[in-house]
Amino acid sequence: MANKQARIVVIGGGFGGLFTALELAGDTEVTLVSAEDHFTFRPMLYEYLSGEVEAWHIAPHYRELLDDKVRFIHGAASDVDFAARTVAVEGWAEPLAYDALVLAVGGVTNYAGVEGAEEHTLPFRGIGDADALRNLMIDTLDHIPPDATADEARRRATFAVVGGGASGCELSTKMGDLLRDAFRRRGLSGEPRVVVVEMAEHVVPGMGDELREYVEDALREAGVEVHTKTRVRRVTPDGFTFEQAGEETEVAAAGVVWVGGVKVSPLVERLRIPKDRRGLVSVEQTLQVQGHAEVFSLGDDAHFPDASPTLAGTAQLAFQQSSLAAGNVRALLGGGELKTKHFEEMGEALSLGTERAAVLAGGKAFGGALARQARFALYTSRLPTWHHRVKVGASWFFEGTAPLPLGLRRPGS
Ligand SMILES: Cc1cc2nc3c(=O)[nH]c(=O)nc-3n(C[C@H](O)[C@H](O)[C@H](O)COP(=O)(O)OP(=O)(O)OC[C@H]3O[C@@H](n4cnc5c(N)ncnc54)[C@H](O)[C@@H]3O)c2cc1C
Repeated sequence: MANKQARIVVIGGGFGGLFTALELAGDTEVTLVSAEDHFTFRPMLYEYLSGEVEAWHIAPHYRELLDDKVRFIHGAASDVDFAARTVAVEGWAEPLAYDALVLAVGGVTNYAGVEGAEEHTLPFRGIGDADALRNLMIDTLDHIPPDATADEARRRATFAVVGGGASGCELSTKMGDLLRDAFRRRGLSGEPRVVVVEMAEHVVPGMGDELREYVEDALREAGVEVHTKTRVRRVTPDGFTFEQAGEETEVAAAGVVWVGGVKVSPLVERLRIPKDRRGLVSVEQTLQVQGHAEVFSLGDDAHFPDASPTLAGTAQLAFQQSSLAAGNVRALLGGGELKTKHFEEMGEALSLGTERAAVLAGGKAFGGALARQARFALYTSRLPTWHHRVKVGASWFFEGTAPLPLGLRRPGS
């Protein structure tokens, strides 16, 4: 049990920060500082894009998740004074004092210095990004004349996804299914074009062969054009240029989505604490920042030494670490013994288009509609708080999870 007078400040309300704060709630004074007013269950952003789920399911407001046991501050932390043990928050005159600090601010899109990428591509990390992409697809379709030739319709409805990891494959299969469905509904000739560009030899690099086969099948079925061993060299308002085997090709595109990587957040970049060569915060096996016993860091902004390499940068890792972080904050403040833990991969669940998914559980992969249901069931159990889980589970069970065709309005919008 932590010292009742102690002040705990958690910066970042994602998988790492929110779940740590929820676990510590009631122990002592806990303050959660978040730049956004809602949590985002990022692994289901693809289903939000396709309208299979609604914003309230996967991006509930903190005021719904937190009761008066956790004080919520909606604002971006701009600095930490480790000597004075205070956190500065934009718009707040007084810094927040802490006895224990949890740093869990996640990452931001990494454009890797590619010319025009930051200015002319869409990121895909939050609800607003998914809304922007859905609206762009609808707007593009609305501008295709009904009598356009198949070539013309395809040229106009060309989209690209940069990055062929799990994110790029999940996103492009959703886009492929949604756009093809919209072509049919609107009576347009031909097929839309969705291109995935990946630097590595295969899509989903790092995932096993079995899961990759499901992914490759889904890409084929969704009509996605895959370019591996290919780099995007530049992006303009009208398209992009890629390089394959030393040859450059220019492609006109209505939209380019960038899911090519993640880097540390500007706050972490600014802080003077030990970091690894990628700029991730170096933490001990207790999640304490090296040289700062009262500061903990977890999730996408930390380099944890004792986890399976495939877990780096995943919600699974941040989620698992949150229990260790909460337990160790409690131990630190209560004079108990801090623990360590080894983290293993719990399996994978990829959403592939609007009809299918692929799941890897207990070393076995399976796909199809059953995998899609298993993914929904698994993710219901990972949502924050019992109350929210029950509400969302009931909504998915009774109201269904069918996609919303492009062009139809979301309920309540
Ligand atoms: C589209 C997408 C799909 C994904 N799918 C999967 C998946 O299927 N499986 C999986 O395991 N992982 C997946 N991931 C990765 C996973 O979402 C992250 O690894 C996970 O969210 C990391 O948790 P976190 O708490 O470290 O960071 P986040 O969940 O990113 O939370 C960080 C929080 O900090 C806040 N913040 C940032 N800066 C500040 C600041 N200065 N002050 C206050 N608050 C701040 C942010 O607003 C955010 O709320 C996906 C990621 C994306 C983008």
